[in-house]
Amino acid sequence: MRLVLLGLPGCGKGTQARLLVERLGLTYIGTGDILRDAIARGTEMGREVAPLMERGLLVPDHRVNDVVAELFRGESRPEKFVTDGYPRTYAQAISFDALLRLEHLDLTHVILLTISDDEVVRRMLARGREDDNEDTIRRRLNEFHKNNDTLVEHYTRCGVLREIPAVGAVEDIHANIVRALGAK
Ligand code: AMP
Repeated sequence: MRLVLLGLPGCGKGTQARLLVERLGLTYIGTGDILRDAIARGTEMGREVAPLMERGLLVPDHRVNDVVAELFRGESRPEKFVTDGYPRTYAQAISFDALLRLEHLDLTHVILLTISDDEVVRRMLARGREDDNEDTIRRRLNEFHKNNDTLVEHYTRCGVLREIPAVGAVEDIHANIVRALGAK
């Protein structure tokens, strides 16, 4: 099973990815974690991406594409995985498709966790970060939509996308995802 999890910020994607890792023994591919680790270790890439990440900006496509390609080199390449936060742009999706095709590891599923913009705003305001007010949240959300909507279109065209509502109890959403994957 090789899947990409998509969804708006605050939809619970990270939580669901980790539950799938535990339940199905998948490798977790989270580009945010990898980049934060590079910053913590003070690598050259870490120093390059730190200022972007601090400002909430996307890291250049070629950087994240290289980071992900690196995971598939060598003996520990993951054959069953779930991605969280990658791909984030259309260019990343195309690069990931090409990489997986080369490795004969095409995606088996893409799960879109659906949640309304209003619900995202409600959850973000409840989290209460200092710089969060409704206007800034909606502006960030609109930016996110531009990329996310193209990913949704792409994977819909590929015929691998399933939508699961991301509202209700975490366990119920998890059960719905597992059912959609056809996994036990
Ligand atoms: P995340 O933990 O997924 O929310 O990612 C945290 C930050 O890492 C983002 O705000 C971006 O700056 C960067 N990042 C993570 N994944 C990607 C990606 N696929 N493309 C570009 N930037 C990313």
